[in-house]
Amino acid sequence: PDGGWEPPVERPRTAPAPVERPVSAPSRFPSALDALRTVYGFEAFRGDQAAIVDQVISGGDAVVLMPTGGGKSVCYQVPALVREGTGLVVSPLIALMHDQVDALVANGVRAAYLNSTQTAAERAGVERAYLAGELDLLYVAPERLNGEQTLRLLERGALSVIAIDEAHCVSQWGHDFRPDYLALGGLAERFPGVPRLALTATATRETHREITERLRLPEARHFVASFDRPNIRYRIEPKAEPRKQLLQFIRAQPEGSAGIVYALSRKSVEQTAAYLAQQGIDAIPYHAGLEAGVRAAHQSRFLREDGVVVVATIAFGMGIDKPDVRFVAHIDLPKSVEGYYQETGRAGRDGAPAVAWMAYGLGDVVQQRRMIQQSDGDRAIQQRQSQHLDAMLALCETVACRRQNLLDYFGQESGPCGNCDTCLEPPETWDGLVAAQKLLSTIVRLQRERGQSFGAGHLIDILRGASTDRIRKLGHDRLSTYGIGEDLSEQDWRSVIRQLLARGLLASQGEYGTLALSEASAGVLRGESPVPLRKDVIGRTTQAAVRKVTAADTLAPDDRDLFEALRAWRAEQAREQGVPAYIVFGDAT
Ligand code: ADP
Ligand code: MG
Ligand code: ZN
Repeated sequence: PDGGWEPPVERPRTAPAPVERPVSAPSRFPSALDALRTVYGFEAFRGDQAAIVDQVISGGDAVVLMPTGGGKSVCYQVPALVREGTGLVVSPLIALMHDQVDALVANGVRAAYLNSTQTAAERAGVERAYLAGELDLLYVAPERLNGEQTLRLLERGALSVIAIDEAHCVSQWGHDFRPDYLALGGLAERFPGVPRLALTATATRETHREITERLRLPEARHFVASFDRPNIRYRIEPKAEPRKQLLQFIRAQPEGSAGIVYALSRKSVEQTAAYLAQQGIDAIPYHAGLEAGVRAAHQSRFLREDGVVVVATIAFGMGIDKPDVRFVAHIDLPKSVEGYYQETGRAGRDGAPAVAWMAYGLGDVVQQRRMIQQSDGDRAIQQRQSQHLDAMLALCETVACRRQNLLDYFGQESGPCGNCDTCLEPPETWDGLVAAQKLLSTIVRLQRERGQSFGAGHLIDILRGASTDRIRKLGHDRLSTYGIGEDLSEQDWRSVIRQLLARGLLASQGEYGTLALSEASAGVLRGESPVPLRKDVIGRTTQAAVRKVTAADTLAPDDRDLFEALRAWRAEQAREQGVPAYIVFGDAT
């Protein structure tokens, strides 16, 4: 999808030397290191910081890809302090802007912001200070830079640096897209000679390319930090009883561990927090629907006290700087690998061991596919959302190293890590071909013969030969596939369906997530290749092992007619679509 675009990346050099470059223009700090020590009290630059600061102070552009918590702020704040003039910082979140400016002012930096929360008089005061050359840093919301008024103001003063933070907001395909970011490319012509940096914690190759192109940074040096967080242990387990699993997971953590639990909805946040509290965990909820006072109180308890577990929607965490978060748990599937990485990245910033744990299940897959289908985004956006979901699902279902999968997604090569669930307890696999065929043929039969489609629950009832009212009422006990899947438990079938959906070998559709064939289902029905599936292990104790399904477990003899029905259905499809008709499954060839 990136058209073979190669990022012009220079790998970080070893042991970057501290920058001691004197600047020709008078400034408040003789050197970058001096500014770092005086303003922030840090001893030395970290990682690529020194090289980035050096590049910008000497007037060059930079594209900085650095994980959350890596220390991006220093990369533009220090050059702004060392170079003459005011550093312009474009930042999309007003709350973060306020926090940053407050922290800078507390450290003696002359910082201010311009945004919609201010009165006209406040804005006028900031403008005066800027024009008088009394500001080291000026934070501006992106929409202000879309207006001539602000641009003209900026031209009348002197800019030292232009920093575009959260630069991935320029990507139309990401979930943080801000249309106002598209106009920021224009700053290149408007302020020639002012070095520009774009910074983000999103490192996919595609986003990297979009940032470079759209923000017009062809001459920039690129700094790509490692995205590995070696102290985080990744664990993803199938969802059976999410709250119990979560409780079990939290109880297995060292006493007094602080953690964040992410859930998708406010209701789920409330219920999960209440459940954990009732079980003796010091858990508190956090979501945008809570009163501001309650939110602030909960946030400060989490930051100040030991061992507090915050159950939150993804509204929680941006800009929260707590180094000793020992675990991040997800009880719902994130929409993308970027989101997952950001959220799990809030664990273990102090470098000590931490865990990223997630429970996810069939319901998550169906729900998210439905949300994408029903969103009003245009087709291209839906397609991109599906790709994001597919990548997330691939991470969940991988039988290889989780970290390797994650880093590969960010374009960084690595080997098996030895610190994730799949490395530590390699999952067993089994061939789910026959099980998949049983399921798909049931779906085909219902569709073909009765024009019906159903969700996972009812299909599993048919396959397992359950005797429910619905089965009897619909006469589904007379289907020839009724009971042919008795060899697998309900949980096993859910696992099969989840994995088939995750790989696109099965589709879900409509408001109720009914199951249907996908384009790739035909290959499964034809038995073209094995369908290796993970054996689910829940709660880290091996569940009653999935009974081995072999090729001998083929369909019942009276399925000849099913086979005929399928053949007819395929032939009909073939006539409609002009493709060759063939169908083979089980040993009924
Ligand atoms: P990012 O924007 O990349 O998420 P921040 O700029 O907010 O990261 O910095 C994350 C944390 O790292 C902050 O607590 C900051 O004070 C700290 N930090 C940044 N640079 C250094 C450094 N050179 N030495 C020590 N701590 C640093
Ligand atoms: Mg930042
Ligand atoms: Zn691993």
